Amino acid sequence: MDKITNRPKSREVFERTKRTLAGGAGSAARVFPEPLVLERGQGSRIFDIDGNEYIDLLCAYGPLILGHANQIVNDAVIAQIPKGTTYGASCELEYMAAEGVVKLVPCIDLVRFSCSGSEANHNCVRLARAYAGRDKIVKFEGHFHGTIDDLYISVKPSPPIGLPHAPWKMRQTPGQPENVTDNIIILTWNDLDILEKTLKHSAHEIAAVIMEPVMCNNGGILPQEGYLAGVRELTKKYEVLLIFDEVITGFRLALGGSQEHFGVIPDLCVFAKAVGNGYPVSGCGGRRDIMELIASNEVPQYGTYNATPLSLAAVVATLRELSKDNGKAIRHASEIGAKIRAGLSNLFQKYDFPMKAEGFDTCFVLVSPVVELRNYRDFLKLDFNVIHRFHAEMMSRGVLYMQRGNMMTSAAHTEEDVAQTLEAAEQVIKSW
Ligand code: PMP
Repeated sequence: MDKITNRPKSREVFERTKRTLAGGAGSAARVFPEPLVLERGQGSRIFDIDGNEYIDLLCAYGPLILGHANQIVNDAVIAQIPKGTTYGASCELEYMAAEGVVKLVPCIDLVRFSCSGSEANHNCVRLARAYAGRDKIVKFEGHFHGTIDDLYISVKPSPPIGLPHAPWKMRQTPGQPENVTDNIIILTWNDLDILEKTLKHSAHEIAAVIMEPVMCNNGGILPQEGYLAGVRELTKKYEVLLIFDEVITGFRLALGGSQEHFGVIPDLCVFAKAVGNGYPVSGCGGRRDIMELIASNEVPQYGTYNATPLSLAAVVATLRELSKDNGKAIRHASEIGAKIRAGLSNLFQKYDFPMKAEGFDTCFVLVSPVVELRNYRDFLKLDFNVIHRFHAEMMSRGVLYMQRGNMMTSAAHTEEDVAQTLEAAEQVIKSW
């Protein structure tokens, strides 16, 4: 695989873009060490405007579970376009998409669609507060639920951050009001004792516990054996709602997300990304008695772009594709991911390279050095110079993934992608 050292057109377009688009990027997450301007994506590959080809393990940060420009999803969306892109009123695609989600996600009896993961989490937390008649939310250090002020707390805090049994509540950006932390309790994840103590003491004030069932955004850390079941038991015992943020795990870890995979059913959940294979759609759903508050408009939930026919056409087509042959698409994406993980692990061992792949097969994270990871405190022990340099070296060899180490796979990835990714990794390690 040739080393991609030159992206003159990307640089030129970036310089121009930055004159009018803040930072020359559409999101803070899209800043690469060297500008990268893309022209098109097809299946498991993307192509930049300089003509370079990449194996796409970024998968747009999660949505592309079927790969780029999937024909079935494209056809469904293209068929909808001449009929109108948004109505501001109901259409039949609504029940088709909602029935698809309800059928697949164990905790969902009723669902409401929205556009982004942040928005769906915001709606979900408000609903939980309304149902419980309490204001406080337990959130875990290092877990990301989007950038709505209320939940954008202690996501990636820099030390000092307090003691593990009493983490400080850290706002993530200037502009968040000081009192935004008042109704949030930050705890260390993967520790049942800490949660039990908190619930025992303060359950009467707490509406819900929210978490990423796998800590995908910081290290791909898995829940410890029995942890999720323990959280479920404790939240039931102390009558506090449990919310799973399945924005990454939904329709990716398994068809029914982490709740299906781990067999632990929350009261409410949030999904986005993979449900629409790249179209802007998200949702919040769960137990009928809770969702009735939205259904009855006691907790009104608005949105001009909620459930647009275009997004729903994508959802219906994506869920149909994912459901085919008993979930063949996710099985394939998992098998490919497992091969890349295993191959990388072999290389790390063979060359005694201090790196490992943490997480699950369709979303794993390359971390260094090799330390046991249970929570955000462990994540802070990682060497980000190594992680970022490995990322840059892989990217220059045509393998694209998240700078913080996350690799995601899709149903469109192939054995060739596995072989080329491993070849690139071996070159990087040898030349380290
Ligand atoms: N929750 C999780 C677990 C996420 O990973 C993300 C985005 N990466 C969000 C919420 C926010 O979703 P969005 O970017 O669509 O607002």
